[in-house]
This record gives sequence, structure tokens and C-alpha cells, in this order.
Amino acid sequence: MSLSPQQIVTALTQMLGADSVVSEPGQMAGYVSEPRRRFHVPALAVALPRTVEEVQGLMAWANENAVRVIPQAGNTGLVGGQVPMFGDEIIVSISRLEGVRNVDAAAGHMTLDAGTTLHEAHEVAEKAGMLFPLYIASQGSARIGGVLGSNAGGVQVLSYGNARELCLGVEAVLADGSLYSGLNALRKDNTGYDLKDLLVGSEGTLGIITAATLKLFPKPDFHETAFLNVASPDAALELFTRIRGRAGNMLTAFELMPRIGIALQLKHGMIAQDPAPEPSAWHVLVEISVPRGGEAGRLAAAVEEAFSDGLVSNGTIAGSLKHRDEMWLAREQMSEVQSREGASIKHDVSVPVAAVPELIARGTEAAERLVPGIRAVPFGHLGDGNIHFNFSQPEGADALAFMAGAGEIHEAVYAVVRELGGSVSAEHGIGQLKTALLVAVKDPVALKMMRAIKSALDPKDILNPGKLLG
Ligand code: ZN
Repeated sequence: MSLSPQQIVTALTQMLGADSVVSEPGQMAGYVSEPRRRFHVPALAVALPRTVEEVQGLMAWANENAVRVIPQAGNTGLVGGQVPMFGDEIIVSISRLEGVRNVDAAAGHMTLDAGTTLHEAHEVAEKAGMLFPLYIASQGSARIGGVLGSNAGGVQVLSYGNARELCLGVEAVLADGSLYSGLNALRKDNTGYDLKDLLVGSEGTLGIITAATLKLFPKPDFHETAFLNVASPDAALELFTRIRGRAGNMLTAFELMPRIGIALQLKHGMIAQDPAPEPSAWHVLVEISVPRGGEAGRLAAAVEEAFSDGLVSNGTIAGSLKHRDEMWLAREQMSEVQSREGASIKHDVSVPVAAVPELIARGTEAAERLVPGIRAVPFGHLGDGNIHFNFSQPEGADALAFMAGAGEIHEAVYAVVRELGGSVSAEHGIGQLKTALLVAVKDPVALKMMRAIKSALDPKDILNPGKLLG
């Protein structure tokens, strides 16, 4: 017989203590609402364990009693993976599992508890004179367990890789409460299935990550950052190829933005001044990270050459840290600005890098055919082939009517993505938002393997039910 909500709260309180359980609906608001406010299902309770042992005890009890559990870290996910779907789940927040277990700058790794925020992770690395190069807009509140669970990407994947590539090992509590102790720091470990990579990106469906060993990199001596005007995504791609050829792995960011994104930020007073010297159909933010002993001027030389070849029509190279921050702010607010401009329909997609211009052209055309006046705002990580292909409603349109047509826009964009050999979720994951889409597009054999793994590790389907695999 299943436990009543009251029995669940009582059991949690007995296990963890009253100050580690939240069951007042008002106090749970911060845990059940998510950044895009799309999902509005309550939870039975929020548990806030303080130790890995408490997480183990909680999971053993949940498994025994078939209580459904949603692992949650910073609650910054964009696909609803960290919030309830059914209303009978408990949220297990790992936010109290904060701390540094070990930092070894010489060997190039650090081990952190999973509740540590990404911002704190940056500071721990910095204090050791090193760099942990994973940067996302929500880094102040995103926590390591969630960053790994969702395999976050960000603006430096180009050079350093996504969360999966930055992780050497994890520790995780499985559905039955047992502890997988995979915190090794080995660069080479060829002893069977890669369980670390199975847990990273599993969106809390296979285990609760409680700690991780992460790679550290030498800190760049300085950055060279430019905000450049280009005529088209094709020109941006050509520029990317050239600068990558000159800078190799030192090219740490190459971000594409359409003019409308900058114009709207100016309109809504989100930036004080235009980061571009003059308007242009497209802009790119390029950054080179130069290691100690590296010479300055590499980016300026590349830009000079691109300018004389007519590839770049104008641009600015950051003259100070403040100037660099202003350029990055304009990039980071590209998503946020859309919410000031009414409703928007969003896609986080990737295609082979060379196909990005075709993706943007065909996707925009298809959406404009469906909704005349729709405003395409495709931006993002051109160097990774990952575009946040967003659309703002036509000016003055009714937001609800616009959103009612989202399904058709999704279908049109995803059709182009698939024809180009791309992915319908590049870096945000599946969560509860894209489960039907995953079933529609994923290789059936891959799905069969994923389901087999899920039922072997979590036979009662208590870990993040309904998410990822539906
Ligand atoms: Zn992104």
C-alpha cells in the first residue's frame, strides 16, 4: 500500500529533522516554479539532506515505499526536468551538499560536493590559480549536480567542451540508496562501461550526483575580445574558419547575434550603448584566451585581414575589462530581452557547423511562411553549431494566439534540423518539455538501450519519473 502524503512528510521529518523538510505550499514555491514558468505542478514536500548518507537513507526508504523523487540542484533548468509532473513527487534538493573536498592544481582537478554553485566552482579554481571553464548565464545559482545531470554547455564549449568533457568522475546515490563511488581523477581508465558518462546527462533519472571531480585548466594570461559586424551567417562562418585557423584552441568563444537582439536591448534600456560601432544585419562576439607567454595582437591581426577582404564591415576590439564585460552582457541578455518583447517560441538546436547558415535561412523562411511578421532571433554558439533558434511574436500581436501556433513552428524548425543531420536538444536537455519529441526523432535502438538501462538501475521508476524517457 502506498504512503499517504502525511505519512511521507512524517517519515521525511523523522529521517532528516524538521528543519530539513519543507511541506508548506507557500515555502515550496521557489522549488516548484522554474525559470520559464511553463510548469505548475505542486510537490508533496521538499527534502534538504545535509550529507550523502542522508541522501542514501532517503533513497533506500523511497525505493522501499515507491515514493517518487525529483533530484534538484539550482533549479535553473530550461526544460522542466527539475520540477514535478504528477504532484505526488518529493523534491530532493542537494543545495546543502556544498563544499570542496579536494583541489589539486598541479594535477589539474578539483573535487566538489554537488550542491556547490557553478560560481563558487569558478572561485575555487581561481583561488588555486586555475580555470574551470564552464560559463552559462545562470552560473550564480546553477549547482554542480545539476550542471552535470543536464550536461550543460555554455559559451566556451568550443575550446574546453561541455560539462561531460570537463568531468573526470562522479559520486552518485542510486535509486536503491547504494553509493556509486566513481570519484577517480584518472585521465585514462579503460575498465568497462563508462558509468560516469552514463550518469552525466541522465537528468536525474539514474541517480543523484552528490560529488564530482572536475578538470582544471591553466588560467589564460589575458583575453582579446571583439564585437564585429558581418553581413550574413555565411560571412560569420567564413570568419570563424579563418580565426580558428589562426588561433586554434585559443579561440574560446565565437557567438553569433542578429541585429534585432541588440536593437531590442537598446529599446528596452537593457544596455546603455550599442556594443557595435554601427548597426549591421549580424554581429559576432569573438574571444581569444591567450596563455602565459603568448603574444598580444593575434585577434586584431585576424580582424584586420578579414576587414580588408570585406568579410567584416566594421567592429570594435575591447579596450578594457569593462568594455569586454559590456560586450558579453549584450550577448548574455539575448534570451532575456525576448521576454520584454512579448511571447517567444524557442528552440535549442545543433547542426554540423558548416550547416548553420542553411539552418538559419531555411528555419526563418519556414516560420515566416507560417506566421507573417514573426521575428526570428537566432543566436548563439556558431562555433559549436548550436543555435538558440528563437522567434518573437509579430509586433502588436496577441501573445496567446501566437503561442497557440507554437507546435507548427516547432515542427517546421525541427524538420530542417533533422534534414541537416542535427539534434533537437543541443544543450538544454529533454526534461519534461521534449519527451514526445525525443521518442519521435531518436533512433529506436538507442531508445531501447536507454530504457533498458533505466529499468535495470531504477526498476520501480522512482527517480525523476516521466522525465527524459517519458
Ligand atoms: Zn547556450
